[in-house]
Amino acid sequence: MAGSADAARGDVVPSVTGKVTVLATSHGRRGRISMRRWAFLRTTWGCRLWVSAAVTAALVLPLVLAPVGHGQMTDHPELTGLLLVGLSILNVEIGRILEGGVSDSQRPHKGLSAWAFASALLLPTWWLLPVVGVTYAHAWWRGLRVTPWKWVGSASYVVLAALAAAASAHVVLGGTQDLMQGDGAVGLLAVLTATAAFLAVETAMFHGSAYLNHAADEVWLRQTLRTASFYLTETGVLLIGGLSAAIWTGGGWFVVLLVPVYLVTQRAALHEPLREQAEHDAKTGTLRFESWRRLAMVAADRCHRKQRPWCVLFADLDHFKAFNETWGHLVGDAALVTVADAIRAELRAEDLLGRFGGEEFCVLLPDVTPEDAGRIAERIRCGVSTAAVPAAAPVTISIGIATITPGDGPTEFVAALTAADRALYRAKDDGRNRTGMVEVGAI
Ligand code: GH3
Ligand code: MG
Ligand code: MG
Repeated sequence: MAGSADAARGDVVPSVTGKVTVLATSHGRRGRISMRRWAFLRTTWGCRLWVSAAVTAALVLPLVLAPVGHGQMTDHPELTGLLLVGLSILNVEIGRILEGGVSDSQRPHKGLSAWAFASALLLPTWWLLPVVGVTYAHAWWRGLRVTPWKWVGSASYVVLAALAAAASAHVVLGGTQDLMQGDGAVGLLAVLTATAAFLAVETAMFHGSAYLNHAADEVWLRQTLRTASFYLTETGVLLIGGLSAAIWTGGGWFVVLLVPVYLVTQRAALHEPLREQAEHDAKTGTLRFESWRRLAMVAADRCHRKQRPWCVLFADLDHFKAFNETWGHLVGDAALVTVADAIRAELRAEDLLGRFGGEEFCVLLPDVTPEDAGRIAERIRCGVSTAAVPAAAPVTISIGIATITPGDGPTEFVAALTAADRALYRAKDDGRNRTGMVEVGAI
């Protein structure tokens, strides 16, 4: 795993002086890097302690624990170390080609853990330092730019996870010299046990970072750690490393046959971020309307089957055209991001937030009564009007609420949307910066 990255949300940071809008093209490249460099000091004490302890342990333990690791698998450790670094470079380069040379991308799997894992199986533990150091440095150089402290933390977590893998492989393998020895059963067991140990330590370390640090700085990591696909892909990545290690000990040249496997794996690892991109609006991070509608219909249907209430909110910023005219469209864009964050802050994990288009947002609240929906909408309205938008004037929002209570028939999803839209127009007509509610016919 490559660690979490804070999505660089736009390079243009608007600053406003009185009535004159100054659109500074950010702090420039140098400024951005130095801001990132000091980002570690803005994390929580707990997080700083966690990362510092992990980095220290990752630097010291591979040297101290060298006798515990297996490291008997190869007569040519230098050649093996070079091979692992070479395979990592090859994989990152394949990934770059597949991504069209995109840098600054944020995706969890560049497959870097595979080589730390293979190193744990094949080499004395101190080899983890050059292998992880060089593979992480190369991936950084080739464009995987995340906040430096997260990158260093991530590398340390991988070293610690690999140490756990080395120790468990050592226990299973005993004096075995070759992962492919005999019918390969012992080697396979060692690889599987080491994979489980690696995943357990890696997961624990990343959870520490994600939950000790400020929530706002770890949105991506927390979300990623909650998906099954992360653990599945990471297991796949580790097994590729295990397979490469086994083939290396059983018949080195066969590693050549793994190259197409790496290619397919890199392509598969692209699937998740591309799906994410396809489903989410790039500007605000909310769901695109079509994705929102698909997921919302499923959630509404689930509520209907369980005879639970659900609600739809339709929200539209007030006088946003005038806001753009006064402050400019780039400030308007930044305000949209702030508004989306303010709305999200009032929602639960199971609620669905989408961007209908322009400056209109839609929310599905499953299992929520009309009274609660009214309270949530009011909280959103207040949250938006007090949100720190990058302009000297606040933005306000009008919200239409359609409530559906359980009854004796399904409600057409479109009818609920239309009702929320109608309620929104009523809120606008009543003077804006308010909420309006419509009850959709009993179901
Ligand atoms: P009302 O209170 O009646 O909603 O007034 P309004 O000016 O907000 O009217 P309307 O909702 O029709 O205006 C939408 C405006 O939102 C038009 C456009 O300038 C602005 N807008 C739509 N999408 C974007 C966007 O992605 N970025 C920015 N900056 N502005 C947008
Ligand atoms: Mg509008
Ligand atoms: Mg509007």
